[in-house]
Parts: sequence; structure tokens; C-alpha cells
Amino acid sequence: MKIAILSRDPKLYSTRRLVEAAQQRGHEVVVLDHLRCDLVMEKGDPHILYKGELLTGIDAIIPRIGASVTFYGTAVVRQFEMMKVKSVVASQSILRSRDKLRSLQIMARAGLGMPKTAFTNYSKQVKELIKEVGGAPLVIKLLEGTQGLGVVLAETQKAAESVIEAFHNLKARIIVQEFIAESKGADIRVFVVNGEVVGAMKRQGKEGEFRSNLHRGGSASLIKLSRAEKTAALMAAKSLGLDVAGVDMLQSSRGPLILEVNSSPGLEGIEKATQKDIAGKIIEYTELLVNKGKTKKTKS
Ligand code: ADP
Ligand code: GLU
Repeated sequence: MKIAILSRDPKLYSTRRLVEAAQQRGHEVVVLDHLRCDLVMEKGDPHILYKGELLTGIDAIIPRIGASVTFYGTAVVRQFEMMKVKSVVASQSILRSRDKLRSLQIMARAGLGMPKTAFTNYSKQVKELIKEVGGAPLVIKLLEGTQGLGVVLAETQKAAESVIEAFHNLKARIIVQEFIAESKGADIRVFVVNGEVVGAMKRQGKEGEFRSNLHRGGSASLIKLSRAEKTAALMAAKSLGLDVAGVDMLQSSRGPLILEVNSSPGLEGIEKATQKDIAGKIIEYTELLVNKGKTKKTKS
């Protein structure tokens, strides 16, 4: 079959590994830059021009849409869906996962554990807000942040108040969150494909750093998940309708607490930590989607 990987950069580790895994299984594979797709709509015949040429013959797409191009990227995925091309990750689910607030709402409703979190429309009631998530120390996050940038630990009440007020003044949207001290600067990334855990790693922040992001100098190691952690990861992916997902969680005295779910999770860290062919798992799932002619239903 013919698989298209939607990626802006064919040289990225994740893109290269997906191409390799697809070729190993005898598939034809192309890498398409979603920003160079023109979407054409007319009655009964949605189609796509790629660098000016009509795209045809694609059986499935694997979207790797970066957070900065979610709007156009998901429109491209939706166009493929309208053309009856199977997508490994549904456009609706990508959109849902990119909205941190909406994701947390959906996961809270699904009964998942999470750090106590508050979100506000630039409230003046900063003291009450801080009290609501258990007081200092607490974590303040920019709603649009990634890779640990825009995540601040405010150790005292005073610091928390000033940081929240500063962000509010800048009209930056923030999340105020209970600080989970027991996780000791570590988090867990669970990689889920089609309702199954295919790999997990623990990321530990470098000395003196509460953020465990690999981009912030954290290091990854293999971890065996508890039953509760496994269940939480699968429920989180399912509640957002994601068939491929990277679920991030903290270990706490009250069990696993979900931080966020990534719809284009990176392959490099997880493949190196687990020594597993995660790209191959994604391609196997792609085959399943196409062969079974499976139609995916998602709730918004
Ligand atoms: P990003 O999406 O930018 O990576 P995260 O919400 O995942 O932001 O936070 C980055 C890191 O900071 C996490 O991986 C975790 O190690 C740490 N962290 C985030 N929230 C908390 C919290 N509430 N308590 C303790 N540590 C946290
Ligand atoms: N971009 C990586 C991912 O989504 C995260 C790396 C990090 O933790 O800094 O898997």
C-alpha cells in the first residue's frame, strides 16, 4: 500500500524511522509537507494539490503535525479523511489534544487522576486561585508552552502571586497547578498504539531541575509500569480518541496523575530507551486500518 507521512522535515528521527519501518514492510511511502498541500473543495470531490500536482493513490496517512501549525495541519488531515484516506490519528483528536484545557476537562470527566489544576480568565482573585490548588509551592504553566519552556515552579506564596500577576498583565493564558513533590523531578512517558502500551520510559530531570523534559537536559530510562499506570495511559488516549499517543504522567502518593497527551509523540527517546521498534508498531496499525477498512468514530 501507499502511505504518506505528513511531516515538515524528512530528516527528523521520527520521520526517518517511520519511512524505514514502512519500507521494511514492503510499502510505498512518501513524506509530504502538510504546509505545501492546497486543499480544494467542490461538491462531492474534495482533493489535494501537492506542490501544484493532484495527489492520488494514497491509502493511509500518518500525521506528524507540529504544535505551531495545528490549524492548517489538521485541515489537511481532515481533507484526507474526506477523501476516504485512512488517518492513523483523527484530525478531531489532534485538535482536542492540542488544547490543554479541553484535554484536561475531558480527562477529568473520564475519571483520570491529574494534579489539581485551575484555569482562569485573567482573574483578579489570585490568592483564592492559589488556595484552590493547595497553596505554594505550585506550578504555573503557559497554556501554549512545549518542551518544558513556560513551566515555572513558584516556591512561595509571594512568588506565585507575582508570577501569576505578571503573566496576566502580559495577557498570557496560564494553568495554575498543584506541585507534585513526590515525583522528584521525574515523569513517565507511555507510548500507546491502538489501545496497547508499546513502550514506556521514565524521564528524570537533571540535578536541581523539577522538569524532566529531555530538551531540558533530562535523561530517559526503561520502566516497568504498574497496572494503574497502564490503565491510566490507555484511558487517557481513549478519552481523547487517539490511536497513537504519548501519555505523560507523574507518579504520586495517590497514584498516576496525567499531565498531558501528545498526538505526535517523538520516537527517538522512546525507541532508544526501550530498544523497541515503535515505528514498526505504528506501521502495523496503519496496515490494520487499511486492511480492515475500519471506520473510526470520535466524539468531540
Ligand atoms: P511541557 O508540555 O512544556 O513539557 P509539562 O506540563 O509536561 O510541560 O511539564 C514539564 C515537566 O515539568 C514535566 O515533564 C514534569 O517533569 C514537570 N512538572 C509539570 N507539572 C508538574 C507538577 N504539577 N508537579 C511536579 N512536576 C511537574
Ligand atoms: N518531543 C518529545 C516528545 O514529544 C519530548 C521530548 C522532551 O521530553 O523534551 O516525545
